[in-house]
Amino acid sequence: MKLEQILKTLIRFKTVTSDQKQNALCLRWIQKQCKKYKVFTKLIYQASFPSLLITTQKTKTPTLWLGAHVDVVPGSPQVFVPKQKESRLYGRGTFDMKFAVACYLKLLEDLSKKLPRYDFGIMLTSDEEIGGEEGVKYLVAKGYRSKVVFIPDGGQNWDIEKGAKGVLELEVVSKGISAHGSRTWLGGNAITSLMGFLDRIQKLFPQEPCGDTIHWHATCNVGVIEGGKAANQIPDFAKAQLSIRIPSESQTKALLKKIRALEKKFPSIKVAIVHATPSFRNDFKLSFAELFSRIAKNKYGIKTGLDLSHGTSDARFFVQRGIPAVSVRPQGGGHHGENEWIDLKDLERFYSVFKDFVIQVSQKT
Ligand SMILES: [Zn+2]
Repeated sequence: MKLEQILKTLIRFKTVTSDQKQNALCLRWIQKQCKKYKVFTKLIYQASFPSLLITTQKTKTPTLWLGAHVDVVPGSPQVFVPKQKESRLYGRGTFDMKFAVACYLKLLEDLSKKLPRYDFGIMLTSDEEIGGEEGVKYLVAKGYRSKVVFIPDGGQNWDIEKGAKGVLELEVVSKGISAHGSRTWLGGNAITSLMGFLDRIQKLFPQEPCGDTIHWHATCNVGVIEGGKAANQIPDFAKAQLSIRIPSESQTKALLKKIRALEKKFPSIKVAIVHATPSFRNDFKLSFAELFSRIAKNKYGIKTGLDLSHGTSDARFFVQRGIPAVSVRPQGGGHHGENEWIDLKDLERFYSVFKDFVIQVSQKT
């Protein structure tokens, strides 16, 4: 099958993370394709999330894992119908990251009878968009590891990801005293104190325009705010949810200290950490990334730079265990939006570089 045909087939599976049936269907379809090849497959369920493992050798620790998630973020029904305009293919998951799954399936087809000569595995999970705890995190903890992992869920336009910001999700709860809205002196307005607090929080972050073209600084988004029932009532409760992105762990520590100090100044306010994902830096010798760069340059004259990512990916679970991750993508964009796309011509080039990379890294000696 042609690379783009595989990708189009994958897009039609509505593998939204919350729909584990569709994710399982998609993974079973992939498993079925594997029957043609001399590979070992295993479908694992962890907390109802399916993961599919495909290896050329019977092992949990191949030299190279090729990682990808089949789950996608929700979208309108149209985005699950692939549409091609010139060399661009539009559809949910084209860029994030079913193109990688298509590359992996194409690789199995191309290597076919030669597969036993290589030592690599394909790790496909279905919960990346909600944190990856039951997918890659679980599998790595269970001993599914490798010398290096290829996981093209970061990096931009052939730039290789060098690191990613961490995530800190906070819930801020403000309590007040309810009273009639005409007697403000009798109550304590939970919304007003929350607004005052959030205003102080925002001042802890650089204001835009910040002058840093790559914005490698901490950011804070107030994504949810709730509170109040009627205009003539003083609200006794208000709540906000914040998503903070931070480049380094030392900055996270320092920032939390400042937030806690601020919390003390607002007795009616409590801050809770809902979720924390550490930042990571792929500060290895980058020898595998260099190999990928060299192949891209020799084959197509493509110059790969280094990229720092504002989002996070499953790569961090490997990096935390000392396993270097190579994250790089062809031209594409619009992920999580209605116009997600990938450039099919560039994808062909990407596949060809990727294939050479896998052959060189995982060839058995
Ligand atoms: Zn900035």
